[in-house]
Amino acid sequence: MDNLFDLTGKVALVTGGNNGIGLAMASALGQAGADVAIWGRTESRNSDAADVIGSHGGEVLALAVDVSNEAEVVDAFAATVDAFGHVDSVFANAGVGSGMTRFEDMTTQEWRYVFAVNMEGVFWTFRESVKHMKPRHGGSLVVTSSVSADLGFPRGQHYAATKAGVRSVIQGIAVEYGKYGIRANAIAPGYVETGMTEPVIDSEAFRAKVLPRIPLGRFGVPGDFDGIAVYLASDASRWHTGDTITIDGGFLAK
Ligand code: NAP
Repeated sequence: MDNLFDLTGKVALVTGGNNGIGLAMASALGQAGADVAIWGRTESRNSDAADVIGSHGGEVLALAVDVSNEAEVVDAFAATVDAFGHVDSVFANAGVGSGMTRFEDMTTQEWRYVFAVNMEGVFWTFRESVKHMKPRHGGSLVVTSSVSADLGFPRGQHYAATKAGVRSVIQGIAVEYGKYGIRANAIAPGYVETGMTEPVIDSEAFRAKVLPRIPLGRFGVPGDFDGIAVYLASDASRWHTGDTITIDGGFLAK
């Protein structure tokens, strides 16, 4: 049997691929043989990440892109296709956290900022992806959701709403574009140690409250998402679409 997880000859795009979960997924995709494009706003992090991903031997393209800017997304998607000729899988992973503001104090500006990055950024990234993938009759779209979509999430109603909303988006894409061979799925991480969660995970009170609720006994690390990224970019997931895959150490089950 061929190696179902071999990504040689495939091209993967990871937004927010310069840090945290996105960087781990991009590195794993490169290690499995894919050429990889990453998008992020911070040029220095982009180039450091490109060195890490490129150490596996594939081609890497790192572009400075703010996914909350429609024109930047449109241009960057075209530049990615120009560089590699095609794109097979797109991981819309770029995201910002909640800011932990009390609901009663939340400003419209803060609410809209989280929606602009986590929701509109996903919309524009997937819209451009679908335009490219439909005539090619194939592609895999993956969004990074969150278990916060399944919980009452205090001081993060806007964040959780975007993470629930993107699941509806992928379900709709899965139904509308399945006939064109396009698959769409969401990954829902639990609490993972990254730049985004550092301030909360470092707090003793938070650790004491949440760790006992994780059956596997620890917070996640970015590398815990290597396998799911390669699976969803590969032919191993060829009949898997419209789904949310929860990876949380068992947190939601408890
Ligand atoms: P992270 O380490 O802070 O990474 C966030 C990434 O998104 C960075 O590469 C960042 O790069 C990029 N980004 C942020 N805003 C952007 C924008 N406007 N345009 C383009 N790129 C942007 O956080 P992470 O934990 O790995 O988060 C990755 C995804 O996982 C997010 O969607 C997050 O909501 C989700 N998630 C995380 C957890 C967790 O516990 N960590 C749990 C559930 C879901 P630049 O700053 O350079 O732009």
